Amino acid sequence: MSISPYRGRFAPSPTGPLHPGSLLAALGSWLLARHARGQWLVRIEDVDPPRTVPGAVDQQLATLAALGLASDGPIVHQRQRDALYQQALDRLLADGKAFACHCSRSDLADAGGIHHHCVARSARAQPAIRLRVPPGSTVAFVDGLRGAIQQDVYAEVGDFVLRRADGYWAYQLAVVVDDHAQGITDVVRGADLLDSTPRQILLQRALGLPTPAYLHLPLLLDDTGRKLSKSEAAHPLDPAHPLPALRQAWAALGQDPGCLPADGSPAALLARASAGFDPARLPRHDIGPAMPPA
Ligand code: GLU
Repeated sequence: MSISPYRGRFAPSPTGPLHPGSLLAALGSWLLARHARGQWLVRIEDVDPPRTVPGAVDQQLATLAALGLASDGPIVHQRQRDALYQQALDRLLADGKAFACHCSRSDLADAGGIHHHCVARSARAQPAIRLRVPPGSTVAFVDGLRGAIQQDVYAEVGDFVLRRADGYWAYQLAVVVDDHAQGITDVVRGADLLDSTPRQILLQRALGLPTPAYLHLPLLLDDTGRKLSKSEAAHPLDPAHPLPALRQAWAALGQDPGCLPADGSPAALLARASAGFDPARLPRHDIGPAMPPA
């Protein structure tokens, strides 16, 4: 039973099988939640149908189950949550904080893809909806691992999309609405999302929502120093051999391999891992070259 208000989550997009990069985020967020005696929830971010791979949701959930990483509450699927996203969008539109935009990528090419005002050359059947980001929208926050982070969202990002011109919800809106709706207090995820966090904080402020704590784990790099993208199919985790994958992720999180039992079930390994986990050992920089596949 949970005795602390800490609530973390793991939120994979079903763009392919889970791989060691995803497991780092899954295990890291799970360990930090257990360390805080909090809860850990799984959310399927299937909000982008063009990028959703058929069968990937079931495959990811089966892999998590094989690894012994079980959600402490019902698993949320973003594709079932249109009404919540629409409510948030309607509020922003009514408050004048969001606006319809007909600009295409090519309209914005001259501005480096950054939207500060509409320059659409023609109307679209269905415009995108963007959050208005006024000059001076600099967001600062303290990352649990990396310390002080600051971004001038106006200059570096501009007005960003909340609902796409193809009608699908943007990740930024869905993640902010769901982190709040699920009562997430601590977002622990890969460093590839570090530059999304200031946008999410701006959106929380526009919606009058509290900002959770953020901690961005280092990325696994491949042997050429490129990031092992979470959606890359390279080295998918093998659910038939969960222990080597868990050990590899444990070591990549800077933890003492000696803490873990030599054999046994994933549940036994995770119990030892949560008892021996030391957040002070988490690496602050990207990890590479990647360790050999488990
Ligand atoms: N669904 C995102 C991904 O798989 C992660 C979102 C998040 O953790 O905020 O990259």
